[in-house]
Amino acid sequence: MSATSEHIVIVGAGAAGLMAGRELARAGRTVTILEARERCGGRIHPLSISQFGYPADGGAEFVHGEAPVTRALLREAGLSLQEIEGERWSFDGAHIVREDRHDPQQAELQAVLRQLNEDLTVADFLRRHFAEDEYAWLRHSIERMVEGYDAADPERASTLALREEWMACGHSPQARIKGGYGAMIEFLAAECRRYGVAVYLRCAVSAIEEAGGTLVVRCAGGDVHGCDRVILTVPLPLLREIALPESARAKAACADDIGFGNVIKILLRFTRPWWRERKQELADMSFLLSDQTIPVWWTQHPDRHPVLTGWFGGPRTAALSQLGPQALIDAGLDSLATVFSLSREDLARELVAAVATNWAHDPFARGAYSWATPRTRGAQTILARADGPVLFSGEALYRGADMGTVEAALASGQQTAGMILQG
Ligand SMILES: Cc1cc2nc3c(=O)[nH]c(=O)nc-3n(C[C@H](O)[C@H](O)[C@H](O)COP(=O)(O)OP(=O)(O)OC[C@H]3O[C@@H](n4cnc5c(N)ncnc54)[C@H](O)[C@@H]3O)c2cc1C
Repeated sequence: MSATSEHIVIVGAGAAGLMAGRELARAGRTVTILEARERCGGRIHPLSISQFGYPADGGAEFVHGEAPVTRALLREAGLSLQEIEGERWSFDGAHIVREDRHDPQQAELQAVLRQLNEDLTVADFLRRHFAEDEYAWLRHSIERMVEGYDAADPERASTLALREEWMACGHSPQARIKGGYGAMIEFLAAECRRYGVAVYLRCAVSAIEEAGGTLVVRCAGGDVHGCDRVILTVPLPLLREIALPESARAKAACADDIGFGNVIKILLRFTRPWWRERKQELADMSFLLSDQTIPVWWTQHPDRHPVLTGWFGGPRTAALSQLGPQALIDAGLDSLATVFSLSREDLARELVAAVATNWAHDPFARGAYSWATPRTRGAQTILARADGPVLFSGEALYRGADMGTVEAALASGQQTAGMILQG
């Protein structure tokens, strides 16, 4: 078999799968992508413009940090970015106040982090270096960021993996794609089609078997695809549900050393941006942090869409696992009503559209994204090796700083394709 006659099946048409598919097909490989959902994009989940008045994102929304692979792809696609502007506010239990970015203990935190050369969990790090009462707020704000932003468990999360993020103190650039992440996925899917990739939707892969030097991929609906190699890009929790050949099964067990967190995301579209009327200074509000049931909210500033997005991430989301979409929307309205001293009924009357997703309930994600434990780098090194016919790819396999992101997924897909092409 010549390299270019090789047939590769990619499981999953998210950012990693589409990126790998495009790179391989462009280099002349025969590529088939099998996707369980009825759409491409995976954890990139565009919502309809008619529902929210703009191409809102029910999954990934922001481009975090430098994101070189994402930015290069967007340039190719002719898509542009809008940097996040505006002010961060917080609710202290009584008042909405502008976030004070000058924390006198930051310098101490940075100094300890700089000297850290051995990894330990975030919880151990805080116990070892910042246990005294005077650091209560620092501990609270770090735990809130690790749980809320990284969707991680401080008792298991790696301090070294998060160090860079903390050192940047939330100052790394953040942007949104004009047209949303959906526009990027549309471009990638069109590229795949252009290079001849066959994409099958509603094909949930249930087993991969080795048979005399080739592979057989079985889908839950009964479809069977023969091929020479498989790239698995499914989210970590789904890996456990696919029957794999023995060697790949042993490798996949390493995924237990990689954390996988959950997020609840709620989009609420109102008749008008009432929060600007409540308090004039809130006209430039980007983020609003609180300790309410749905603790984090953001606007589309500088765009003026009357939409507030609620966010709750990390292990504590398990406490809301019984709530369906409507109950989550009600919890979101309750949180906003408390923060803005309004009645939930008044807010509900202003509601035009609402979508709430607990990503742990999504059957093809089972959560939101991965995070690093002190053992994750080792696990990723084993999982990302191209040492058999079944390869692993996707955001959780990315070894750079912004694990768990779209950038991580795109870079991982590109890297996996690169390893195959280099032989
Ligand atoms: C609510 C939320 C908000 C987020 N916000 C951001 C953000 O602002 N910025 C950012 O950069 N990242 C964000 N992320 C993370 C980002 O979306 C992911 O890291 C990235 O999209 C993962 O891409 P992937 O290709 O690795 O995996 P996925 O997108 O999950 O793709 C894997 C594909 O495999 C499919 N699949 C699963 N099981 C099977 C099976 N058995 N057979 C066939 N197919 C299967 C899935 O349907 C999916 O399409 C967010 C994620 C969530 C959930």
